[in-house]
Amino acid sequence: MASTENSQPDTTGFHVSPEDCFLTFKLDLRPYQEKAIEELVGNLNRGQDAALNLPTGTGKTIVFLSIANAAINLGYRVAILVATNQIIGQIQAKYLPMFNMKVLPVVIKGIENYDCALTGEGADYGFCTPEQKTICTSNNQECDVLRVNNEFENARFVITNYHKFISLKLEHKFDLIIIDDSHGFENALDDKFQNRIAYYQLDGLFKRHDQEGGIIADFTGAFLDYFDDAFNSVPTDTYVESMRVPNDIVKHIADIYGCDEVQSEIRKLNDLDRSICRDACYFVKCCQNTSVNVFYIQKDHYDLEDRQEASLIARKSRPFQINVIKGKFRNSRIIFASATIGDVVTHANHCTFKGYTVETISVVPKVQPDEVKNWFSGLKILETYDFPQNTDDQIEKAAETALGILRITQGKTLLLFKSYRDQKRAQNVLNRLINRKITFIDDSFESETVQKYVEQADIIMASASSRLWEGIDIRDLKLEIIFSLPFIRPPVYLEKNDGFQFTKRKMLIRLQQGIGRLIRNQDDKGICVILDKRLEKYKGSKDFAEAYREKIEPVSLDELVEKLKLLEKSK
Ligand code: SF4
Repeated sequence: MASTENSQPDTTGFHVSPEDCFLTFKLDLRPYQEKAIEELVGNLNRGQDAALNLPTGTGKTIVFLSIANAAINLGYRVAILVATNQIIGQIQAKYLPMFNMKVLPVVIKGIENYDCALTGEGADYGFCTPEQKTICTSNNQECDVLRVNNEFENARFVITNYHKFISLKLEHKFDLIIIDDSHGFENALDDKFQNRIAYYQLDGLFKRHDQEGGIIADFTGAFLDYFDDAFNSVPTDTYVESMRVPNDIVKHIADIYGCDEVQSEIRKLNDLDRSICRDACYFVKCCQNTSVNVFYIQKDHYDLEDRQEASLIARKSRPFQINVIKGKFRNSRIIFASATIGDVVTHANHCTFKGYTVETISVVPKVQPDEVKNWFSGLKILETYDFPQNTDDQIEKAAETALGILRITQGKTLLLFKSYRDQKRAQNVLNRLINRKITFIDDSFESETVQKYVEQADIIMASASSRLWEGIDIRDLKLEIIFSLPFIRPPVYLEKNDGFQFTKRKMLIRLQQGIGRLIRNQDDKGICVILDKRLEKYKGSKDFAEAYREKIEPVSLDELVEKLKLLEKSK
């Protein structure tokens, strides 16, 4: 039974009929979309959560918005979580007008998108601290940050980004939460619970302020001394890349004098120094709160002696993370929407800590409809089974191969690297390419910047650690060259074996996200070239979709260019 405007429905009695969902959409749903809605609401009505697994472009957003809108119309409280503000804009401008909406969404973005009524400048976390917010609330200060926080608690329909959802307090739970592109949510969780500061950042800040002296130089100098101690505490006789920071060093960092004084100087600094000072002060505060933080020193994977690339990491403890995340999801019904679900139980548990089993969560649609099976008919994945592995010049060789390919192909092309370091090495070779423009995506670019660049680009170079994976939309992509499988470094907090399982799953998801970008419509044609013979080892995994596996064609390195010439001619 649906609730009225004034009463809150019991989530255990969540009930939405498929017909309610169909009727909210102004246009005709495709048959497979209707079927997906029927299966999803079947799960939700039984008190179970579900994962909506459809390829990009097949209308996942329409499916979940139909359910969201029907639920809202019936009085339920619904949140949609997305990766970026740009996707919020797309949902508002493109999708919501397709629905009969009785309740419009409240959009909630990060505080940097609002003005601070006290400073008259853009709100920022340095000044708008939880303590300051409490003061402003008790003074009845009118401000957009407080207004949207209040709406997060009370609005019937909220659209927000992952980071905001994780950071806001939530007393009044949602009945239904939809996580769009839910693999991005897993990454956002990892980011959100971790604060990292690199040696080169502190060192640069120190050098820029050392001559004039003052609190920034004193504070940073003391921090660098303890960073040195943490770095030197890692044994050098065996290969140790990361380890816990000894407690006495954490205590010394906690006692560094000057955080408050640095905070009051922060507004006089440029953006770079401001951001480093904030991160450093936040790190010191984390060290003062050892009950919920765990500390690691992580050395550079490629050069353990390179102090400049080492980082200190403050990671929220697992009980703290579980507490925060369970407090957000509670017994809300959840739809995970993704084009690359992989192993659904693992994925859903990483997002929510809900302890799902194969009995309690399922993937929709149960049987892939013909339209979806045929979705990738224009896709070809060329796997070079003899590409040399683990050689010193592997990246140079891959770059030379890519150079040959780029000279005979046309159309928007994405070059994917496992690390920023490889990306920079390959750039030296690829710079020999004339008549084509290469756009280099820096790992520090924010999502909005990445989106702007990829829209205008001809050839894009990006790495597995860039923001390219967080909801970035690349239109008209024709060719993708994967220099090496996009493994990321194992997280510092995982044991070696667990770390490998974790990075393998993440690698396969990213690989598929990359490949899936080639086909956005059923008629699209796209080619993915993989210059890494290790795919053979991993393509049988349950985290790698059958639809992609079927499209793999093994080729030798010698055959590759000829094969591409033929495919280019047949376009
Ligand atoms: S809560 Fe206070 S400090 Fe924060 S943005 Fe609003 S007015 Fe500024």
